[in-house]
Amino acid sequence: MKYTEEEITAFFHALDRSRFMEQYKEEAEMDVPFPIGYGQTISQPSLVLEMTLHLDLQSDSRVLEVGTGSGFQTALLAKFAEEVFTVERIGALHEQAKDRLKAEGFSNIHFHYGDGHLGWEEHAPYDRIMVTAAAREVPPALIHQLARMGKMVIPIGDSSNQELRLIEKDEAGVIHTSFIEHVRFVRLKKEKE
Ligand code: SAH
Repeated sequence: MKYTEEEITAFFHALDRSRFMEQYKEEAEMDVPFPIGYGQTISQPSLVLEMTLHLDLQSDSRVLEVGTGSGFQTALLAKFAEEVFTVERIGALHEQAKDRLKAEGFSNIHFHYGDGHLGWEEHAPYDRIMVTAAAREVPPALIHQLARMGKMVIPIGDSSNQELRLIEKDEAGVIHTSFIEHVRFVRLKKEKE
């Protein structure tokens, strides 16, 4: 089953972003990114919604998310997919998002502390992959872990110039790439903290 844009948008508007922020709670409704500590940011809500819609979730999708951060995007994915496997490289953010999303009542989210360049091999393949930090090029492990007929949304580029791309793997395993728009995300880093 496929959810409609209206269903996803309605849940998104009902999701209280301040519950995913420790600071700037008063400003949570503004459509801007905010710092969440450790040099990271919670994305602006309109972009989170847009990226989710591009991912074209199905109710039986198994989704890999790279860059758990605040967990706000994770919640949206978990509501409209079967299982979400989310990877974060900053231990404190990983722990915080885990506590928060469990308290929100989600039971279909699996948390991993590690380097998202490597994906999460153990649970692959994934029908959908959402990356919320920019890589210089699409990490080969993510291409590998994407299922046939799968889709990935990922920002690619350096710190000043990034393209949001939709990567699709067809039935034969061939990759097709399309440009969505220019964006600005924090960089996908290699080392764990
Ligand atoms: N979507 C989230 C986070 C956006 S910021 C939100 O809206 O809150 C990007 C996140 O990616 C940060 O939490 C950062 O720590 C994480 N990150 C950066 N490099 C990573 C890597 N190599 N593997 C996994 N997560 C990474």
